[in-house]
Amino acid sequence: MPEQSRSVTFKNVSKVWPGGVKAVDGVSLEVAAGSFVALVGASGSGKSTLLKMVNRLIEPSEGQVLVGGEPVDAGPAPELRRRIGYVFQNVGLFPHMRVGENVAIGLRLAGEKDSARRVAELLELVELSPEMATRIPDALSGGQRQRVGVARALATGPGILLMDEPFGALDPVTRDGLGKAIRALHDRMGLTTILVTHDMAEALLLADRVLVMEKGRIVADAIPRDLLAGKGGPAADALVAVPREQAHRLAELEK
Ligand code: ADP
Ligand code: MG
Repeated sequence: MPEQSRSVTFKNVSKVWPGGVKAVDGVSLEVAAGSFVALVGASGSGKSTLLKMVNRLIEPSEGQVLVGGEPVDAGPAPELRRRIGYVFQNVGLFPHMRVGENVAIGLRLAGEKDSARRVAELLELVELSPEMATRIPDALSGGQRQRVGVARALATGPGILLMDEPFGALDPVTRDGLGKAIRALHDRMGLTTILVTHDMAEALLLADRVLVMEKGRIVADAIPRDLLAGKGGPAADALVAVPREQAHRLAELEK
């Protein structure tokens, strides 16, 4: 995919659910091609709703979402989704299908046959052995399942990767390892990545730019260095204070 087709733009986007909940409230945002953006916020702040409007799992009530400068609804949704990898909150692997079939599902939807070789490549990409292809998801650890979810998201060679709390259920060591692996993949493949997380430390350590969401609005938008310097505003400061205080206490213990 050409570099410039990897940008994501929100133009005054809102989503009001039936019943009146305004999950996303007038968001305007430009995510540059090749950047790694973290979207941080409390549960219910609208992160998943915002993310799902990029690949049209949710349609905005107002405003417009553009990918590569083109409105996302300019063409058919399946075509759009081949250009956008999506890692679900809670993984969402099909339990009755083998790992290989789970990874290949996007390829098969795109009409590709004989995907065994591609599946092996994709598993290698996320540092899983090719033998894993014949296992069912239940026979994997949580971290391995997440890697399968990433392999599946990258199957069609997308330029954009959306991840919705992909590390939520993992232990801290696995979580840290997978975060680094994803950042390395992002850099190597020149992806545009949007990572939803509720963990500010993770956001600061992995992303080029951190957005904080509150009640459907973006209330902070800054690079990690500026957030740590207190330039992100009160909402960001409150979130940054937690890992900073922990780091400080750990440093004290080491004295
Ligand atoms: P987050 O991902 O930050 O936890 P969500 O985007 O899932 O937040 O939800 C934002 C708001 O929209 C919440 O109030 C939630 O209850 C509501 N919401 C999300 N999905 C739906 C839906 N399908 N129908 C109605 N309300 C929804
Ligand atoms: Mg969510």
